[in-house]
Amino acid sequence: MHGQMMDSPLLITEIMRFADLNFPSAEVVSVTFDNPRHRTTYRDVFRRARKLANALTAAGIKPGDRVATLAWNDHRHLELYYAVSCMGAVLHTVNPRLFPEQLEYILNHAEDRLVFIDPTLLPLLAPMQGKIPTVERVIVMTSAASMPEAAKGRLPDYETFIADQPEEFDWPVLDENSASSLCYTSGTTGNPKGVLYSHRSNVLHAYAGCMTDSMGLSGRDSVLAVVPMFHANSWGLAYNGPMTGAKLVFPGPKMGDPAVLTQLMNEESVTLAAGVPTVWTLLLNHLRQSGAKLNTLQRTIVGGAAVPLSMIRDFYNEHGVKVVQGWGMTEMSPLGTVSTLRPDMETLPIEEQFKLRALAGHGIFGVSMKVVDDEGRELPWDGKSAGELKVRGPWVCSGYFRQDSSSSHDADGWFATGDVSVIHPNGFMQITDRAKDVIKSGGEWISSVDLENCACGHPDVLMAAAIGVRHPKWDERPILLVVPRQGCTPARDSVLAHLAEHFAKWQLPDEVIVVESLPMTATGKISKKDLREQYGQVLMQHEK
Ligand code: ADP
Repeated sequence: MHGQMMDSPLLITEIMRFADLNFPSAEVVSVTFDNPRHRTTYRDVFRRARKLANALTAAGIKPGDRVATLAWNDHRHLELYYAVSCMGAVLHTVNPRLFPEQLEYILNHAEDRLVFIDPTLLPLLAPMQGKIPTVERVIVMTSAASMPEAAKGRLPDYETFIADQPEEFDWPVLDENSASSLCYTSGTTGNPKGVLYSHRSNVLHAYAGCMTDSMGLSGRDSVLAVVPMFHANSWGLAYNGPMTGAKLVFPGPKMGDPAVLTQLMNEESVTLAAGVPTVWTLLLNHLRQSGAKLNTLQRTIVGGAAVPLSMIRDFYNEHGVKVVQGWGMTEMSPLGTVSTLRPDMETLPIEEQFKLRALAGHGIFGVSMKVVDDEGRELPWDGKSAGELKVRGPWVCSGYFRQDSSSSHDADGWFATGDVSVIHPNGFMQITDRAKDVIKSGGEWISSVDLENCACGHPDVLMAAAIGVRHPKWDERPILLVVPRQGCTPARDSVLAHLAEHFAKWQLPDEVIVVESLPMTATGKISKKDLREQYGQVLMQHEK
């Protein structure tokens, strides 16, 4: 027997319509190329989204067509998020930090018809000249008055593109499973792979992000989205904001500038900020050096890579800010787990609470998880049995865009994450490593995440990366690269002594190398691949 409830499709269009009616004056604040503090409201964003949808229709964009963005987080990007998806086309958010060959590959693979580009990113186009045949037009995300000299008269600007268009648009009633957006993984192994989100997956994911024990967004929040809108839907914030009426604050091209981020947080009364750990390492460092304080920030959602315990401690002790760790993947829209504490955990000694927050976190209703051994057998949630993590759920991809997915998905539809993890009896999942980053020394596994986490607790260490490098006897041994805190010189023996308090002797790194900085991936994570290429042979002379 069927239930007798309305079969209303779950559409991003409905988030927009709801916000337009209920939160017309909720603010959207952006740093843009042409304005260091642009202020607007949801009502105006959606009015302009309707003009944009008319302009796109006039440009010949049809349902299913791909429209790309090479853009930072700002109000125009938000307009594109809604206009493109809600008219039935597919918003392809492209990561501008990818290598030129990857950009070219992605635009061609997706067969993008239009590219909307931030003025600061125009130089990316030159090497692609004549190599992206499906792209009919490139539109620069600024006004005529602010067009950079190089593009003036050659390319249209966004404001002129939408200027004469009507303010009404008849949004189609789409099938909820229609594709809404497309995002490629950064392709640390092989070519980037496309993840094609649907209206339904994004709406369900947006509900999940708003649950109190998840990211807990509400209309009381002012949210700084440092996580890029090209990195897995900005973790859903572009939908969570309008769904709840939260104020959205976008740092534009300044997302890597801790001084601007501090200013934005304090001047826009930011309560919640989201980004990858490297952003917050720089911010905490800046706050220490400048003596600045965070006056309104209550919590940060930190994910995309393991969050060091020291960061959780420093945020709380120095600024009273609670860190909520999130784990997820582009393939998961991206939310999988969050480390919000349960009520009984909030009465534990503070150090115990920090340790719980340093885990990847508990599941969110909607994502099923299991850890399996090499034969695919499910392992118990005992906090000890490590294996590959698999996930399944309505906002997990069922395959890759125009690509064979047989190695990532099993016959029962579970997606293999490539992460090695354990799940504790209380449901908290802990990532021990990415499968390809695990250090295998003489047949035993050493967790690079644990080594890094511990090294960051050394008073002289700002950032750390542990990698496995080739060794003549043990196949692989760990080495540790450390970036010093300002004015400090971490001594090898002191770092090793610090690690020795927590690790067995055979797990300690063979080398500690002090470096000025660490290479980053396109999504702002430490690039182990680059480090392995650079340091992979440093121990080949050693005999142990
Ligand atoms: P990319 O690979 O393109 O940088 P993703 O965001 O999809 O982008 O990367 C997902 C991976 O990032 C996960 O599979 C996991 O290895 C890592 N990751 C994400 N969040 C965490 C976390 N909280 N702790 C440890 N690793 C994480």
